[in-house]
Amino acid sequence: MRLSELGEFALIDRVSRGAVCGDVGRVVRAIGDDAAVVLAPDGLLLVTTDLLVEGVHFLRDRISPRQLGRKLLTVNLSDIAAMGGVPRDAWFGLAAPAETPVEELDELFEGLKELATETRVNLLGGDTSLSPHGLVLSLTLVGSAPPEEVLLRSGARPGDHLVVTGSLGDSAAGLRLLLEDPGTVPGTAAEALRRAHLEPRAALAEGRVLATTGGVRAAIDISDGLASDLGHVCRASGVGAVLEVTSLPVSEDLVAACRVLGEDPHRLALTGGEDYRLLAAVAPEAVQRVSEAVAEATGRPLTRVGEVVAGIGVELRWPDGHREEIAGGGWDHFVASAGERA
Ligand code: ADP
Ligand code: MG
Repeated sequence: MRLSELGEFALIDRVSRGAVCGDVGRVVRAIGDDAAVVLAPDGLLLVTTDLLVEGVHFLRDRISPRQLGRKLLTVNLSDIAAMGGVPRDAWFGLAAPAETPVEELDELFEGLKELATETRVNLLGGDTSLSPHGLVLSLTLVGSAPPEEVLLRSGARPGDHLVVTGSLGDSAAGLRLLLEDPGTVPGTAAEALRRAHLEPRAALAEGRVLATTGGVRAAIDISDGLASDLGHVCRASGVGAVLEVTSLPVSEDLVAACRVLGEDPHRLALTGGEDYRLLAAVAPEAVQRVSEAVAEATGRPLTRVGEVVAGIGVELRWPDGHREEIAGGGWDHFVASAGERA
């Protein structure tokens, strides 16, 4: 069935079924009125929103609707994770062409609600429109955190250690394999990298531990690439940073794929987007404690990648001793030279 045969209100009916996936107790009125009515969670509200536009953020023939629904929520969960918060309630904006198959949207809603259930997020409303070209998805997510536990970009100080959760560069390599697979990357590595791109995970548990253990002075999620996102932390904090290139966490799958693709895994780890790991600046005396707490809570280690220094800019230290100043190097939607992104 096409969307034009189903109509807007039947579509909203489908999206609203089973949409209150989290804490029902706070919800006074969910989908179906002019506005949702909800008791504010305790503490500060964290509010974030992200757009996914067909042809800009995703290629509809490379990602399944279920993966897309999950990714739409994931990119927002990652922002809440970076602030150290707990995700609570979501609003979903959808613009779709009239000829869109309803089955495709149903699968997208399923993916969205599946992850909402896993992360206890209520879907409390949204808006729906016809789109003349392609799918446009937007999600607004509200989270919460006690005031003393919110992690900002702006608290990093010289001497802090820079740590990241998980490996870097996998998603960028996965995207490359989705766009032009030479067929020569070992099958299991290629599959794992494609999944890293199509099914990223938000570091929610890691974010909570970073926020509650003490000693973490700033954090950001790595959506545009480590180099670019570290630049944001540096500007917000009025500091500079040094990255030890060989210490960047690269997976075996990435190394295996890069051998075939002729890429440098550490370059991809520096500039590749959409890994959704967290980068944090941690007071030196707290690094050990924070690392142990994250490993204990999540089973995943933190990796130290560099240090915060006085001054401005990000400096790379390569194993041969040479140093490089970098300016950004991540994704900018409006700078043509940044190339194309799926
Ligand atoms: P209005 O005319 O006030 O904008 P709508 O008819 O657009 O109302 O929406 C009716 C109800 O359906 C509202 O509760 C709204 O939040 C919800 N809704 C509309 N579109 C979506 C969507 N894509 N996802 C979730 N809820 C939606
Ligand atoms: Mg509306």
